[in-house]
Parts: sequence; C-alpha cells; structure tokens
Amino acid sequence: MTVNFPCEDSLRRNLDMNKFVREIPKVELHLHLEGAIPIDTVFALIRKKGTEPSIRTLEDLRARLRYRDFHHFIETWIWKNSFITESSDFEEIAYQVLHSLKEQNVKYIEAFYSPGDYEHLGMTVHEITENLIRGKERAAADFGIGCELIMDVIRGDGVDKAMQRVEQVTPFLGKGVIGIGLGGSEQKYPPEPYAPVYAEAQKRGFRLTAHAGEAAGSVSIWGAIKELGIERIGHGVRAFEDPELLAYLRDTQIPLEMCAVSNLRTGVVSSIEHHPICIYFDEGLMVTVNSDDPTMFNTDISQEYLVLARDLNFTPTELKRLSLNGVEASFMPEEKKGKLKDEFEIEWKDLFEKYKIEIVS
Ligand SMILES: [Zn+2]
Repeated sequence: MTVNFPCEDSLRRNLDMNKFVREIPKVELHLHLEGAIPIDTVFALIRKKGTEPSIRTLEDLRARLRYRDFHHFIETWIWKNSFITESSDFEEIAYQVLHSLKEQNVKYIEAFYSPGDYEHLGMTVHEITENLIRGKERAAADFGIGCELIMDVIRGDGVDKAMQRVEQVTPFLGKGVIGIGLGGSEQKYPPEPYAPVYAEAQKRGFRLTAHAGEAAGSVSIWGAIKELGIERIGHGVRAFEDPELLAYLRDTQIPLEMCAVSNLRTGVVSSIEHHPICIYFDEGLMVTVNSDDPTMFNTDISQEYLVLARDLNFTPTELKRLSLNGVEASFMPEEKKGKLKDEFEIEWKDLFEKYKIEIVS
C-alpha cells in the first residue's frame, strides 16, 4: 500500500506537524511518573520545600534540569526527586501528569512508580500507592483519562526488598495497580536473581514487564524473557544484536516499550537515525511509542511521534499502526481494548480527513 501525504511538505514547512502529532489518539505504556512531573509542578514542589533560593523562575529550573552526561543525569534525577517530601505530594503528581497527557490526547496510561526511592524519607509503599490512586481517580473523574500503575521493584535494592515491596503493594492489585516492573542499573544487576520475585508476582496476578536491552545487550532481554516471564520489554533497543532474538520477538509478538528520544538523550543510540525502531517495525515486531521520563529528556509523547515522522520518515498510516499497537500491547482486558481500538479508528479517520491524507491502495 502506498500512502500519499500531500500535506506532509506543508506540515513540515509550517508548524502544523506539531498540532497533528498532539491530536493523534495515544496510549502510553512506558512512563515513569516521577520523571514526567510537569515543570511547573516541580517548581511548585521546590517552592514548597523552600531550600533552593537560586531557582527563582521556571527558566532557572529548566537550566538546572539540563544535564551534561549520564552520570549528571542520575545526579539531576536525584536532585529533582528530593523535592518530593511527603507521600501526599504523589496525589498532585499523578493528577498533574495525567492532565498533561490528556492535553496530548492520551487516552490510557500504564505508569511506573518507584516507591522504594522514598523509603529513606519514611514514606511507605502503602502511603505512596494510596496517594497516587487518589490522584489518578481525581484525574479520571475530571477529564476521563484511564491509568493503571506498575510498581518498579528497583533492581539495585536487592531481591529481599523487591519481594517485600510486592507483598506491600498486593492489597492494591486490581484496585489501581496492575503490574510490576524492574528498573535501575541493568548492567550491574542482571534480571536472573529476580526470578522468584516475578514468579511470586505472577502467581498473585500482577502483569509483568522489565527494563531490558537498554543499557545492556540482548542477553539481558533473553534473561528477562526466560527467567522473569515478562509480558512486555522495557526498551529492548539492543535486540538487534541477536537475529534469533529478533525472530523470537516477531513470532511471539512480545511488545517492546520503545522510547526513542530517551535512548538518544542517554546515549544508548548515537543519533536518532541509528535507532532500531524502523528495523523492528519493518520486521513486524510489536513496537509501541512511549516517552520514559519526558520532563528529564525535554520531550513528551507527542514529540516521540513527531521524531518518528520527521526524522525517521514514518508515514501517517504507520503512526496509526503504532498508536493502535499501544492499545494491543496494554494490559487492559480484551473487551476494553476492543472499545478503545474502535475509538482510535474513528479518531484516525477524522484526522486523515482533517489533514487531507490520501491512502492509495
Ligand atoms: Zn524507563
């Protein structure tokens, strides 16, 4: 099928392309709530704590969040998180993140959160989860956005801690929490030791995902698949290193939660043109589009689609496929998926008409 996109050049010339990508109906499956706090909400948290007299304006804050390299990125991440001082902050964080996503026509989100990062401040998994659920329920009531939470058990904290956190979050399973994830230093902490944690979580009914193939190679992805039994892969950028793995991912359709701008910003890929998302898409892998830590990477989910269209030549029809992949790859029940896909089809039809996109078979 060839796709004519007569307005593509004009979209590139004027700024309508920005508008087009914002209007795409979307699902977000790889977003860390703490990395997605809108900049004005971070600013409000800083003012509330009152310990940073040098941050007087949003511009000061933007400048402070610019990092030089990966090490500085981690430092900046920790600095930014230090302004979350009480568990009730999480209610506002969830609400404001969802509000920013709603403005980009995101319909449904499966969002990571890492309560273990706040343990040293005396905040518990229970309190943080409760507050996030309150925030997301308020967002659902105010602007009809759907969200389920995925608790990151944090690989660097060890297996015992991970198991404890699964235990602590279990009362919220099916009541706002849908799954568990595994983030942190993939190079230092391979997935295999977490097998008992994942087995236990699966037994309890949690859905399973893990960061793999981002900082480490294809071996880490195999480990997450075979030892953790994951249902989705966080990133999976380096799957291309092993043709057998690529074939396996194509045959099983295990979804990849891809975040191209994040990979560029953290140096996982040297340029956006070197990102393997095109190869994976062309090979028929189940690829999805996500934004990871948008505030930290100065991006958002719309920009992710923009980069794919502008820099990697994804056509509107291909962007449509990617947005529908998001629904398919989600942990929603089949019936809900079906309804959301119908909604997406209608919105895409309207978008094609509005932007005069012609499809020639
Ligand atoms: Zn991530």
